[in-house]
Formats: sequence, C-alpha cells, structure tokens
Amino acid sequence: MINLVLFGPPGAGKGTQADVLSKDYHLIHISTGDILREEIAASTPIGLAVKDIICKGELVPDNMVIELIRERIDKNPEANGFLFDGFPRTVPQADALDKLLVQFGRRVSAMLSLEVEVEELISRLLNRGTTSGRSDDADRAVIENRIHVYNEKTQPLIQYYKEAGKYHAINGMGGIDDITHRLKNCIDQLI
Ligand code: AMP
Repeated sequence: MINLVLFGPPGAGKGTQADVLSKDYHLIHISTGDILREEIAASTPIGLAVKDIICKGELVPDNMVIELIRERIDKNPEANGFLFDGFPRTVPQADALDKLLVQFGRRVSAMLSLEVEVEELISRLLNRGTTSGRSDDADRAVIENRIHVYNEKTQPLIQYYKEAGKYHAINGMGGIDDITHRLKNCIDQLI
C-alpha cells in the first residue's frame, strides 16, 4: 500500500503525470482541481461557491477541499493506495490529510515534488490555456496570481514534508516521458 502526494506549482505537470502513475501503480487518482471543476460544471452548491475563487486563481477554503478528500478516501476502502494531485495545498490541509489517513489505517508514504522554472510554468500554462477551456489558464494575470498563491501558501509544505522525511525532489523540466521515468525511479525505490 502506497499513498503519494504529487506536488508542484501550477503547470508543473502534476495532472499529466498522475494519469500515468495512477494506472501503472494501481492507485486512485484524486485531483481536487478536477473534482472542483466537476462541481462547477454540474452547478452544485459547492460548484457555485467556488467558481469565482477558482477564476481568480485563489485557493478554495480548506474545510471544503478536506471534506471532498474525506469522501473520496471513504468511498475507496479497498484501494491499493491514493495519488493526491493538487492536494494538500496548505499546511492545515496537510495536517488534515495525515489525520484522515490515520483514521483509515493509512499514511502518506512520500511527497514527490516536481521542480520547474517559473518562466517554463507560465509558458506551459498559457499554451494549455489555448486548448484546456480553463479560464484560469488563459489569463496571464491569473496565472501569475496562482504562482504567487503557490509561493505564499503551498511552498511551505516542502519544509513540512522535509521534516517528516517524506520529501523527494524530482526534476520537472524536459519531456513528459523523461519526467515520468524520473518519478517512477523514485517510486520504485520506495516500494
Ligand atoms: P488545479 O487543477 O490543481 O490547478 O486547481 C485549480 C484551482 O482549483 C486552483 O487554482 C484552486 O482555486 C482550486 N484548488 C484545487 N485544489 C485545491 C486545494 N487543495 N485547496 C484549495 N484550492 C484548490
């Protein structure tokens, strides 16, 4: 059983890599961004509450995303493991994840941090914005705000997982397959 946090700034390639890794290691892929976009598309009360926040590139309140995660873990008692993508994004979320997993007899095995230069992030996101249909990818000011929010609220998690002895830096520059290879090398050493 292995539970992984795939970590990195917006545009680091978390979603792309999580799709491959979750299949190869038979993990349940949980992307809070995808879940929130589904809620918006279905115009649920959660979707309506978070729409403007996401459009501006701000973070959705911790209690909302923590509850979504709790539901997903609860729904998958037989899971071989989970791959968290875009969660946790704040220290309170990381604390909540640790506590939740304990309740289900699990723990975070490792945090894999995709490290990518800022200019590359902006260029990847603007490029994705031409096809993703995501308004938060199409506007340079929103992208810059997402990176600013990442630096302020999410990056401290690197220290959090370093202290827990779970932080693994992965070079996130270059081709998709090369990055997958680096991630898999790291995971294979963990299992
Ligand atoms: P992502 O698809 O991971 O880039 O997430 C898109 C947007 O959803 C983010 O810019 C946030 O507004 C929101 N979001 C996703 N995950 C979280 C999270 N763990 N905590 C707070 N907001 C989140």
